[in-house]
Amino acid sequence: LADEDRESRPRLMLMGLRRSGKSSIQRVVFHKMTPTETLFLESTSKINKDNIHSFIDFQVWDFPGQMDFFDPTFDTTAIFGEVGALVFVIDSQDDYMEALARLHSTVVAAYRVNPNITFEVFIHKVDGLSEDYKIDTQRDIQQTTTDELADAGLENVQLAFYLTSIYDHSIFEAFSKVIQKLIPQLPTLENLLNILCANSGIEKAFLFDVISKIYIATDSSPVDSQSYEICSDMIDVIIDISSIYGRAAIGAKRNHEAFSVIKMGNGTVLYLREVNKYLALICLLRAETFEKQGLIDYNVHCFKEAMDQVFELKRAERTRREMEANQ
Ligand code: GDP
Repeated sequence: LADEDRESRPRLMLMGLRRSGKSSIQRVVFHKMTPTETLFLESTSKINKDNIHSFIDFQVWDFPGQMDFFDPTFDTTAIFGEVGALVFVIDSQDDYMEALARLHSTVVAAYRVNPNITFEVFIHKVDGLSEDYKIDTQRDIQQTTTDELADAGLENVQLAFYLTSIYDHSIFEAFSKVIQKLIPQLPTLENLLNILCANSGIEKAFLFDVISKIYIATDSSPVDSQSYEICSDMIDVIIDISSIYGRAAIGAKRNHEAFSVIKMGNGTVLYLREVNKYLALICLLRAETFEKQGLIDYNVHCFKEAMDQVFELKRAERTRREMEANQ
């Protein structure tokens, strides 16, 4: 990918102890592996730069091994300098004391180099825990971590905590929240989605990264997991069908943009349209509303044009800054 393209994408780094679940997360989220297939994964043993064709720039790092902050040749500036979010994965089904110690040293090292990093902690594999135990675990991890950071004089560092599992949608929802923090245009995108919904009678609209099925923005009506799940399942259906019937694959190189409508038995319509090479818009609406498809198509077209402008402006701004810097 071109440098310019890389720079405009949110950059994410996934870290954690061996066997905490990093490769599984990567495979399930970015490579459509089923959760049970991850049982047979080899443990990650090298830096795993995933060159996927996604809106999200994604890397996986492993402890111990790749991360030795006491090794003088270890270049923390190079590693943390350009990262947007550092996601630290903790296996909640295991004794997590060592993981917490690593998390602490990582945050300290990364914050020193790059105070703008967002720190995200995935309390992972919670599918094996009871509801009560989940809450206790989260409270314990959160308390220990913030206390230790305060003791180190870093009480201003914010960490966000998520309960995740690859066996349900929680891992995708957690990533959505992590990614949204890294998108400077988010308020504009949300505003555009609100306008689109209000003017077209659409009930819910998501902007999805097609490869990962992570949504990068949605309108401001509340997200219920069911509508999110149905939209993400729709992407799977469209990809499966288009890989069988060719041509219209979303995200693939071709002239026609992907477009699809699914009418469901309960009177709901799912409407998908490709926005650019990474992103697709998916809307949920009532069948009655969809009778005015011309209006909806037109409004979606306007939305796409506005999206182009949002990302184009950012590119123009960057070029201007570079030119200034070179003078
Ligand atoms: P890595 O060394 O951090 O890359 O860890 P792996 O991805 O190899 O995962 C180690 C083991 O954890 C594998 O057997 C996975 O199937 C399992 N695992 C990963 N995520 C989950 C999860 O959400 N729930 C459960 N129960 N097991 C998981």
